[in-house]
Amino acid sequence: MLRIYRPRVMAIARRYVSQTAQTSNAMVADTTDPMMNPMQPKLSSHSQLPPSSVAYLKTLSRAEVFSLGMIGLATTSKPVLNLVIKLFPYVPMPLIKMFVSRLYCGGDNINEVKTFGEKLQKRGISNMMLSLTIEDSEGTKNIDINYIVEETIKSVHGVLKPNLVNQLEKCGNDAKKINEIAPGYIALKPSALVSNPHDVLMNFNNPDPHWVAQREKLIDNCSRIAQEIYDLNNDLLKKYPSRTAPFCVATIDAEKYDLQNSGVYELQRILFQKFNKLSSPMVSVIGTWQLYLVDSAAQLAREHARAMKEGYKLGVKLVRGAYIHSETKRDSIIFKTKEGTDENYDAVMTTVIQDLLKNGTKSYYGHLVVASHNYGSQMLATKILKDAPENVGKANIVLGQLLGMSDNVTHDLITKHGAKNIIKYVPWGPPLETKDYLLRRLQENGDAVKSDNGFPLVKAVIKSLFSRA
Ligand SMILES: Cc1cc2nc3c(=O)[nH]c(=O)nc-3n(C[C@H](O)[C@H](O)[C@H](O)COP(=O)(O)OP(=O)(O)OC[C@H]3O[C@@H](n4cnc5c(N)ncnc54)[C@H](O)[C@@H]3O)c2cc1C
Repeated sequence: MLRIYRPRVMAIARRYVSQTAQTSNAMVADTTDPMMNPMQPKLSSHSQLPPSSVAYLKTLSRAEVFSLGMIGLATTSKPVLNLVIKLFPYVPMPLIKMFVSRLYCGGDNINEVKTFGEKLQKRGISNMMLSLTIEDSEGTKNIDINYIVEETIKSVHGVLKPNLVNQLEKCGNDAKKINEIAPGYIALKPSALVSNPHDVLMNFNNPDPHWVAQREKLIDNCSRIAQEIYDLNNDLLKKYPSRTAPFCVATIDAEKYDLQNSGVYELQRILFQKFNKLSSPMVSVIGTWQLYLVDSAAQLAREHARAMKEGYKLGVKLVRGAYIHSETKRDSIIFKTKEGTDENYDAVMTTVIQDLLKNGTKSYYGHLVVASHNYGSQMLATKILKDAPENVGKANIVLGQLLGMSDNVTHDLITKHGAKNIIKYVPWGPPLETKDYLLRRLQENGDAVKSDNGFPLVKAVIKSLFSRA
């Protein structure tokens, strides 16, 4: 039975309002709004240490464990990490492929990624959030956007569909098993789907015909991929009518704050309106909310209210947020403390989970991915779900982590807490293109030199190597 801590949540809601410099009337807690007046369980204290890596490391090959040891060494202290980050751009590609890529990337091409998906299934991870990692947020690389769209569509049919169908075929008519398999996701980075993305997103509502045409190109590129996914969902539903979660989902990734506000929130809303109609049996598109942003809960509450009014479903991926180091207005837009971000994350996550569990097909949140490496948040979600009945809402709640990040947490959730609804975010693509992504992961892995990196990881690697000898 969940304990109700309503006053605590209202206190948090009040703090969203007081901590932001961008406070507006629209953000003042509305007690009729489910986001601001949820039935909340006790919030996680985040005091729980993540599980040791040793158990997980035993499931890896020696070569993989050795690579992890190198990451551990690189993250032993801030100065060492900073040096590694400085040298990273000059490290030859074969070395990066050998030591870093195999931990964080699913492969260079569709066949490699498909095989990688099968490998993940053996670890109890039924599906992936695929990201063709070709990035150009500054618009300087002159990327062929059409190639990105076409390769992404190929990955829907060449990786996600066969990986899912192979698993569905083994379920017979067992509806519970059919719904335990997580959907396959395609991550769409708005900054990779149009030329000159920064300016296009900043001018998303500029009536100048040049910007209108660019905006339409971005919407069209996202829609081409979402349409494939929408059609695939409808086709597969005819074959597997007891499935209540989507088979496949297009996910709009969140960018920096200015881009979110000027264009990305609206872009994802346009896609919800097109592909998540109330008449559709399942959502095909989800968007992302960054809960390190002080105004994130209020922004999501407004989108939820609008979806209810206009008659479509959201689809929600909840993250803390990846751009804390590069947001220029960090002091005014991001929570002042990590604890503030953690509390906001858990409060919003719990609200969405409970709405989905309670309202099922009638929930306007539609689908949720709890995208986090934080053991406290993932355990909170897992505990709520453990006690929940098998229903549409439960089938639409999925836990996700980046490949190579907190694999000990993923392993623990699967082996000790019976989590089935789990996916990994798997970047793939030309090795040179994934270099920027890998650098960010290195930065993030060493961020605050976490308890499961640095020396603890090196120690766990040595222990695991010795225990196999
Ligand atoms: C499947 C998946 C998809 C993702 N997609 C996106 C995306 O589209 N866009 C995006 O921006 N991020 C995305 N992320 C999140 C991002 O990449 C980081 O992994 C995430 O923010 C790290 O937080 P955590 O929840 O894992 O928890 P933790 O490791 O507990 O938290 C670290 C995070 O807390 C916040 N934080 C740290 N210090 C402070 C402080 N002093 N004050 C306030 N807040 C602080 C920061 O957000 C930091 O990243 C995604 C993550 C996953 C797993």
